[in-house]
Amino acid sequence: MAILLFAEHDNATLSDQTAKALTAASQIGGDVDILIAGKDASAAADAAAKLAGVRKVLVAESDALTVRLAEASAALIVSLAGDYDTILAPATTTGKNVLPRVAALLDVMQVSEVIEVVSADTFKRPIYAGNAIEVVQATDATKVLTVRTAGFAAAGEGGSATVSSVDAPSEGSDLSSFVQNILSESERPELTSAKIIVSGGRALGSNEKFNEVITPLADKLGAAVGASRAAVDAGYAANDLQVGQTGKVVAPDLYIACGISGAIQHLAGMKDSKIIVAINTDGDAPIFQVADYGIVGDLFEIVPELERQL
Ligand code: FAD
Repeated sequence: MAILLFAEHDNATLSDQTAKALTAASQIGGDVDILIAGKDASAAADAAAKLAGVRKVLVAESDALTVRLAEASAALIVSLAGDYDTILAPATTTGKNVLPRVAALLDVMQVSEVIEVVSADTFKRPIYAGNAIEVVQATDATKVLTVRTAGFAAAGEGGSATVSSVDAPSEGSDLSSFVQNILSESERPELTSAKIIVSGGRALGSNEKFNEVITPLADKLGAAVGASRAAVDAGYAANDLQVGQTGKVVAPDLYIACGISGAIQHLAGMKDSKIIVAINTDGDAPIFQVADYGIVGDLFEIVPELERQL
């Protein structure tokens, strides 16, 4: 059994999503190789080589791979696929862009958003916005998987894998080009990798109140800020803060939901958080069904008080 893990990185640093997907790969069993597709990516490759349980790190560098455009990345993976039984990537924006293309080119099915490895060919994945868990057996000769990394601990360091270069095929590299990357500047941790998230819902009532109430608590905790879709749609919070089925899927150590009812579409994005605290005036709000700690009361009193106590 040989497994190829398509790494998430920005050439200079390796994302911890790769270390988490490596844990999933190790649970499948077999030799795990990490593929670093990039440009001037030796730092990311060195970091990958230090992860425990990696056989070798393959590095492919070209202009088209600088930001891992889907067409060039898929052509690269397909050129290596013959040596592997399983190809996987974290279910990130990049992974979700590249692997379906790989599966199509290999004419196999993709198993998306794996949350548990049952065996080398059988996996669990959420369906119906996380309301049911499907057990999928993949019978294709090559398994193509994206892994929801929230369910896997990051693999540790201690490895010393060999690093070798592979050729990046030219196919696909002229089909798309990178224009620009506009990142929202923030001092805060990024939502999907934050250890603590303070999230606000419709109850906040306005953008001013959202910033006045949610931001100080997030600042005090060094937390990322999240929001329900109702809060985003109403303009209280920016789009990229939305947590849920159509927003981001998060699993921090601590998720504090303030004035969020707990609709299934919101729960789909945060219910794997390790500890959930809910603040809501309605003691029957569904959010309390997933909360470890619930405070029934007015968030406009409780959140500032919590911040003062901290
Ligand atoms: P509400 O449901 O209106 O809840 C507000 C809560 O605040 C209530 O429970 C109320 O008791 C409480 N409250 C009121 N005043 C106070 C106060 N002073 N102090 C404390 N509590 C108070 N939603 C998402 O969040 N993310 C998604 O990705 C998402 N995707 C969706 C996709 C689809 C296809 C659909 C149909 C819906 C989606 N939704 C999503 C919307 C979802 O169904 C809910 O409408 C939304 O999550 C509700 O947001 P909310 O909890 O902020 O608002």
